[in-house]
Amino acid sequence: SATVVWFRRDLRVADHPALLAAVERASRGLALYVLDPRLLKVAGRPRVDFLFRCLRTLDAKLGGRLMVVSGDPVEVVPEIAASVGASSVHVSADAGPYGRERDEAVGERVELVRAGSPYAVTPGRVLKGDGSPYRVFSPFRKAWAEHGWRAPAETDESTVDWIEPAKSERLPDGDLLPDVRELWEKFRDERLPGYADDRDRPDLDRTSRMSAFLRWGVVHPRTLLADLGRDKGSVAFRSELAWRDFYADVLWHQPESARRNLDRRFDRMELDLDRERFAAWCEGRTGYPFVDAGMRQLLAEGWMHNRVRMVVASFLVKDLHLPWWWGARHFMKHLVDGDLASNQHGWQWVAGTGTDAAPFFRVFNPVTQGEKFDPDGDYVRRYLPELRDVPGRGVHQPRDPVVDHAHERAVALARYAAIKG
Ligand code: FAD
Repeated sequence: SATVVWFRRDLRVADHPALLAAVERASRGLALYVLDPRLLKVAGRPRVDFLFRCLRTLDAKLGGRLMVVSGDPVEVVPEIAASVGASSVHVSADAGPYGRERDEAVGERVELVRAGSPYAVTPGRVLKGDGSPYRVFSPFRKAWAEHGWRAPAETDESTVDWIEPAKSERLPDGDLLPDVRELWEKFRDERLPGYADDRDRPDLDRTSRMSAFLRWGVVHPRTLLADLGRDKGSVAFRSELAWRDFYADVLWHQPESARRNLDRRFDRMELDLDRERFAAWCEGRTGYPFVDAGMRQLLAEGWMHNRVRMVVASFLVKDLHLPWWWGARHFMKHLVDGDLASNQHGWQWVAGTGTDAAPFFRVFNPVTQGEKFDPDGDYVRRYLPELRDVPGRGVHQPRDPVVDHAHERAVALARYAAIKG
């Protein structure tokens, strides 16, 4: 008999519980990836290119036997399972709102076996004593660490006799991914010791850059957690992975939080719906160099440093008074690590509308943030060629700004005061 391993956010073969479960059922398996138009239509070029790189790499690992098809998984997956005589389809559980609905529909047509998830602890598992979910990060992190996670699963591609697909879409030619394990080990050995101190400095670029690999499941967080110790760098890094799990947990309990304010008082907040200002923000033309550098990094690389994500998000919400979901949609389109849970809740955190959010009255000053976290201006000059000749931290001074920060800060606080009661 045969089985299907349907890859989604787990584009790897190492430490893969669903693969383990599939092997227990049958030694012959079809490796399947479905290009789902519903997910692809919201993705920008860098994101799609990154997905193709992941798929080419996975296909190479499987000896060219990854079957890639386009279509609605609810139709396609059961059909393909039947075509190879498979009675079960094995997946890593999806915790997002769309994925859960889709999987339920697929499960009505074919036996869908879930094993593992993209998180250290499967969303929904960490609960308070009274059975309710956590709403605040620090106690969640404590309970999460106490709950713990499994050791990495011992899996590799050779455990399955992969079925040659009868047909498959040709992936566009291009690069394979670098060896992620090697990149991680380099970070662990060279950067992790200084991570707690340097992680906020976009000019130094000292973070792990694991986010896109985690997003597409090229590496599982458990694999990284297993390498961490008790030193300061490890503690800080573990905490960041806990944020990732926390936001997935919040989304799991409240799927509607992907689209609307968790704190419903903010539904009454006065917003400006100025498309021109939004375009200036998207294109990195606000006149605030730290903000513009971040937005241009996003367009150029499909990635942005965390500190800068916070500053540009704050600028959109509190200086331009635009809806956070406009910014979140732009991020999701361009980020190669774009992840509904981390992105929407990262935005809600900055906007002050989330469960465990920064208080709204804390407004980032885009100039002093730049001076503090990019003290010599190197980050800004890297992405704004027009400022290459401006030396030192002076590069952070606004140039033809679209708005006046001090004024807009006061406007934001007044609008906040109006809804607070
Ligand atoms: P590192 O500092 O090396 O962190 C290690 C890992 O921990 C990251 O790869 C990531 O998986 C996780 N992590 C770190 N910080 C956070 C955080 N604040 N929330 C959740 N997980 C975190 N991260 C995404 O993966 N996808 C997103 O779509 C996303 N959108 C964001 C939107 C906003 C407005 C903000 C403020 C943050 C967002 N983040 C998002 C979180 C964070 O910016 C990125 O995870 C981080 O910059 C990725 O770089 P890194 O892998 O080098 O991070």
